[in-house]
Amino acid sequence: MSLLQVRDLGKNFGGVRALDGVSFDLPEGQLLALLGPNGAGKSTCFNILNGQYRPDAGSVHFDGREISNARRSMKPRDVWRLGVGRTFQVSATFSSMTVIENVQMALVSRKRKLFSLWRPAAGMYRDEAMELLAQVGMAAQAQRPCGVLAYGDVKRVELAIALANRPRLLLMDEPTAGMAPGERNELMALTRELVVARKLAVLFTEHSMDVVFAFADRMIVLARGRIIAQGDGETIRNHPQVQEVYLGS
Ligand code: ADP
Ligand code: MG
Repeated sequence: MSLLQVRDLGKNFGGVRALDGVSFDLPEGQLLALLGPNGAGKSTCFNILNGQYRPDAGSVHFDGREISNARRSMKPRDVWRLGVGRTFQVSATFSSMTVIENVQMALVSRKRKLFSLWRPAAGMYRDEAMELLAQVGMAAQAQRPCGVLAYGDVKRVELAIALANRPRLLLMDEPTAGMAPGERNELMALTRELVVARKLAVLFTEHSMDVVFAFADRMIVLARGRIIAQGDGETIRNHPQVQEVYLGS
C-alpha cells in the first residue's frame, strides 16, 4: 500500500472548480512533481494534503489512516504530527535567531508535540540539531543569524526545520521560487539525497521543467483541476496535451 493515497479529490471555490477527480498514489522513497500552469490547482491540492482545506469530494489516506474526506478533515497540526511535513513559500525561519537555534526550536516543537515559539537553551538538542544541519550542508554556518544567510542557504535551513519533525512525507510547494538556476539544482539534488537516505516521500511543485526532468521520479500534470497526464519524464515530455498546456496557453 502506498504511503499516500489520494482518491477523487474535488474542491470548489465559488464557481471555480480548483480540483476535479484528482487521484494518485505516492509510495515512500519517491520524488513526485506536481506540474501545471498557474491556477491549475497545485496549491489547493497541497492545502488539502496538509489539512488546511477540506475537500468537497474524495479522500486522502496517509499511512493507512484517513486524514480527510468531504465530511471531516484532520487539523493541520494533527496531520503534521502524523508525519506530513511541509516547507513554506514565505520563510519559516526567525532571522534574528541563529541557524542552530531555529533548528533547536523545531526539535522542541516535535518533542513537545506542539508548535513552539519558545527560545531553546543553548545546549538543548544541540547534537541532533547539528546532525540535521550536517545533512543539509549547513553545519559550518550553525552560529550565524538566519537573517544574514544567502537565499539558498535559508532554504536549506528550512529543510532542516521540516526534517526535525521526522516527516515521512514532505510537501514542498514551489521550494525553489526566487532561486537562481544553480541554487535550484542544488536544493533539489539535496532533496533527492534525503529521499533516498530517509526513504522520504516528497511531493513538490516546480516551474522549471529542466529541474523536474532532472530530479523527479514521476510527474503529474494538472490543468484546470484535472490530471491530464502522469508518468516518467519521457511520457510527460512526449504527451500531446502537456505540450498544448505549456506551449498553447
Ligand atoms: P496553482 O497553485 O496551480 O497555481 P491554485 O490551487 O492556487 O493553483 O488555484 C486553483 C484555482 O482555485 C484558481 O482558479 C484559484 O484562483 C482558485 N483558488 C485557490 N485558492 C482559493 C481560495 N482560497 N479562494 C478562492 N479561490 C481560490
Ligand atoms: Mg500555487
